[in-house]
Amino acid sequence: TKRIFSGVQPSGTPTIGNYIGAMKQFTELQNDFDAYYCVVNEHAITVAQDPAELRKNTRSLAALYIALGVDPEKATIFIQSQVPAHAQAAWMVQCLTPLGELERMTQFKDKSAKQGSVSAGLLTYPPLMVADIILYQTDLVPVGDDQKQHLELTRNFVERFNNRFTGKKEEGILTMPEFYAPKEGGRIMSLQDPLKKMSKSDENQKGFVSLLDDPKVIMKKIKSAVTDSSGEISYDKENKPGVSNLLTIYSSMSGRSIDDIVNEYADAGYGKFKQDLADVVISVLEPMQARYDKLMESSELDDILADGAKRANEVASETLAKMEKAIGFR
Ligand code: ATP
Ligand code: MG
Repeated sequence: TKRIFSGVQPSGTPTIGNYIGAMKQFTELQNDFDAYYCVVNEHAITVAQDPAELRKNTRSLAALYIALGVDPEKATIFIQSQVPAHAQAAWMVQCLTPLGELERMTQFKDKSAKQGSVSAGLLTYPPLMVADIILYQTDLVPVGDDQKQHLELTRNFVERFNNRFTGKKEEGILTMPEFYAPKEGGRIMSLQDPLKKMSKSDENQKGFVSLLDDPKVIMKKIKSAVTDSSGEISYDKENKPGVSNLLTIYSSMSGRSIDDIVNEYADAGYGKFKQDLADVVISVLEPMQARYDKLMESSELDDILADGAKRANEVASETLAKMEKAIGFR
């Protein structure tokens, strides 16, 4: 069976953007793939984190994976820092990656512009992501559109590494991964600024709906989402980015097509549309939140994570050994 790998940073509580762009696909793909879902806490510390918050968010994110439907019997759920091969492989990847490639990355440019002091780790984030992916000999990486550039970098790395270190008659040491994003919803926009990506680390809480927001809060945030003054519900990303974003969220959360939704609300007005959208979002999140609450209280979660780390370590250390041998460490 083919492998899939993906991760989310415990840099806050995941948003409906993370859910639609990536996490929703986790459950859909776990039946057909050997799946590895990671809580990437090493990525999270590329910007400042409060230790107690980071610890809390890490466990909470693992519980959310399960609450939204990832089955620990089918998929491996684990915490990145519990598999040392990630940091070890990342060092090799860094040493084989031209600095210029990293300085060009959009995420680095965006995030470094927001930071007073920029850590070296923010620049070398993509090599760590390359390590995450290659260690599991990953075929498919379900992530949002914003990670496409990092996946391209991963593909370039795999090609370069295999060309340089694999003997002529051998199969490549590393598997070439493919990018996988939903047709719609690969880039959900902020509710307060539809030209900006929705992000869980946004300081403006009104810009996102988090998966753990209260129904009342969800209603309020969606009702105050920025739209436009035309009052017409239609899908037009250029001229109506706010309404188009809400339509995308509606469609992804309900499984209905955008056309179908536009038809239903053609004469409805923004008030009614937003109210119904909030109800749709709540109907998906409420049962998930109930499962989450139960998991957080149980010791089951700790057993799942211990088992996940064991399984991930087995696979990752095998690839790490191959890389070390190729490079001349063994
Ligand atoms: P941060 O602001 O800390 O970077 P984030 O919201 O960007 O948080 P990540 O942990 O960086 O979340 O990304 C987790 C996954 O969610 C990735 O696959 C990423 O591509 C996807 N993702 C992030 N933001 C969006 C979005 N607005 N729309 C769709 N997918 C998204
Ligand atoms: Mg991000």
